[in-house]
Amino acid sequence: MLNFNPGPSILPAEALEEIRRNFMSFGGMSILEISHRSKEFENVLEDAKALFVELAVIPKNYHILFLQGGASLQFAMVPMNLMEKCADYSLTGYWSKKALKEAKLFGEANIPFSSENSAFSRTPKPAEISLSQKSSYLHITSNNTIYGTQYREFPETGDIPLVADMSSDILSRKIDVSKFGLIYAGAQKNLGPAGTTVVIIRDDLLKREYRKLPTMLKYSIHAESNSLYNTPPVFAVYAMSYVLKWIKKSGGIDAIEKINREKADTLYKTIDSSNLYCGTAEKSSRSSMNVTFRLKNTALENRFLDEAKKAEMAGLKGHREIGGIRASIYNAFPLDGVKKLAEFMKEFERKI
Ligand SMILES: *Cc1c(COP(=O)(O)O)cnc(C)c1O
Repeated sequence: MLNFNPGPSILPAEALEEIRRNFMSFGGMSILEISHRSKEFENVLEDAKALFVELAVIPKNYHILFLQGGASLQFAMVPMNLMEKCADYSLTGYWSKKALKEAKLFGEANIPFSSENSAFSRTPKPAEISLSQKSSYLHITSNNTIYGTQYREFPETGDIPLVADMSSDILSRKIDVSKFGLIYAGAQKNLGPAGTTVVIIRDDLLKREYRKLPTMLKYSIHAESNSLYNTPPVFAVYAMSYVLKWIKKSGGIDAIEKINREKADTLYKTIDSSNLYCGTAEKSSRSSMNVTFRLKNTALENRFLDEAKKAEMAGLKGHREIGGIRASIYNAFPLDGVKKLAEFMKEFERKI
């Protein structure tokens, strides 16, 4: 079965095999049974961190944290920790709206850009965003998992930190981390199983303290304790380390980005050269991770999905909020599988 699930989603088969093979090799015990303060787990954690730093080219003045609560908890932790009185939120879809909702609990959240009136069909160009006075940061969603749009260029924010939810495109392309104050990503799309959220935070932001917060919700506490303030998501970090090893073995981010581009281009070309399919995102904002489209005769969409399933392709149904079709083709999704979908789409069009 070809796995187009939007998240949790496909993982590299090679990494899954390695996880299975090494699962029990912790002194006769499994990874699930050992102390998070043991030397063995310390090695797992350090391994994952070092690989992440290497692959994403994270500068020395950043901390990398493995937290819990999903990207959704970051919607709240970001304003709690970083917002003094106001912050800016670029609204490009369902997840950025959810982030905005949490920010409003802690101060004034301004909206320098919104594509809501065009059904979230695009992301802004850098020049379209002007920040409000005294803004504590600008929050963006780098890839809009549901609407199939992605920032190609990031806004220039000067001294104001840029904060990005990269849940659905982290490590899928080369990013200049030094342009960001904070990056967060739930693991279950491009990094591993559900259960951990990676936070990359610039050290100066760890000093911000604008309100009293519960200990578990402070970035500074997790940074000081190397993600071991309490029991971390042991298995999720362990599994992620194998996904990171797989990325490295595959040639690193440059190689992954090239294949991701080819995968996405294959589908967009199929869409653009057909009379049946119609992309929902503006061309300049198209995502390389989530390819969203409709059938011009929308009544045929259920049949499309049924026949796709019979042809061993699962997870193509668009998000319940907007319908349509969505092919999620994260790092681990193979080019061959994308070609199979493109062939299926052409055949379906010929047939009807
Ligand atoms: C999936 C997703 C989320 C939600 O992640 P959880 O880990 O379920 O909280 C947030 N943002 C983006 C961009 C996503 O794709």
